[in-house]
Amino acid sequence: MAAMQPTNATSSLASATAHSTAVIDKVETMLVDLPTIRPHQLSMATMHGQTLMLVRVHCSDGTVGIGEGTTIGGLAYGAESPEGMKLAIDTYFAPLMLGADASRVAALMARLGKAVRDNRFAKCAVETALFDALGHRVGLPVSELLGGRLRDRLPVAWTLASGDTARDIDEAQRMLATRRHRIFKLKIGRKPVRDDVVHVAAIRQALGDEASVRVDVNMAWTELEAHYGLAGLVDAGCELVEQPVGSADALARLTGKYPIAVMADESLTGPASAFALASARGADVFAIKTEQSGGLLAAQQVAAIADAAHIGLYGGTMLEGAVGSIASAHVFSTFRELRWGTELFGPLLLTEEILTQPLAYQDFELQIPGGPGLGIALDEDRVRHFRRDRPRTSVGPATAQAA
Ligand SMILES: [Mg+2]
Repeated sequence: MAAMQPTNATSSLASATAHSTAVIDKVETMLVDLPTIRPHQLSMATMHGQTLMLVRVHCSDGTVGIGEGTTIGGLAYGAESPEGMKLAIDTYFAPLMLGADASRVAALMARLGKAVRDNRFAKCAVETALFDALGHRVGLPVSELLGGRLRDRLPVAWTLASGDTARDIDEAQRMLATRRHRIFKLKIGRKPVRDDVVHVAAIRQALGDEASVRVDVNMAWTELEAHYGLAGLVDAGCELVEQPVGSADALARLTGKYPIAVMADESLTGPASAFALASARGADVFAIKTEQSGGLLAAQQVAAIADAAHIGLYGGTMLEGAVGSIASAHVFSTFRELRWGTELFGPLLLTEEILTQPLAYQDFELQIPGGPGLGIALDEDRVRHFRRDRPRTSVGPATAQAA
């Protein structure tokens, strides 16, 4: 067979169909509700559970790709919610996707981009599913479809957000002892700034030099509070402060004023904002989030802008579950520099596993799967069990609220 020479007719047919081996047959979306291991307190919301919006793209060659859209605290973080993403994909994305060439991911995303404004998280979920299916089709990991990975493992920070200093210290010490995390991000900004600085200093002192301590203020401070806060954080031994203020201009004014790295997160909403921030030297570090960027390819564009501006990179999270987290891991693995590591711990915050094989977190790092596509498989029984629309027989809080 291998020695057979194709005739002119068959070779021209092959080239004509090279990008047309599969079309999209079905686009399926679902909401999956999972509890968290503890309340997760941020300046804008306290999370007791997480809702994943999963999208599955079924193709005519039998390949199926999965993607995830997840937010922090419903609508507390931004304009998209898991419920809204499901509605947008079902109503506006799916009709444009059905029958389209499943292998031409960039072309299909460009078409969706013209028809749908914004909706960056929903676009990210769909693009992830298309790349996953393409990876299965051609037998390559998503990271290779994105240009190729530079690393197989990613350092993963853990967020301390119980709201209680002693509990946070205990949690961090357990993470160090089990070699799961040694970078800790403290969520602050809910309490007066002086109290927050005392909280950070206590944790820094308790953990010693083997741990790195950073903070995320989630925009909660005024510029004046931030001046006090940054000075105090330097004295407390904190190495990085994430989005202390909401305004990008104020962020730029704070950058370089104190010997502590200033990281942009909420201000970074894709390549255009990355360019504006880089032009104004508005941060020392970018927390790149795949969903916030508007997709896998857009996140790579943000990284390229940061690189060109000598801005450090950190792989951020929207507290995605396993699908969204591993999609981000594939993207982050292609970044030339990733000096500040990642925070892809979302799946560890959930009490329930939805993969047939859990993600591998060990020795302070996450292993990026090497199989085709995302390299993961959903445990269908468990996904079905946690689907919001599954028939329920017991009376739970949702029923009581509806009544
Ligand atoms: Mg943040």
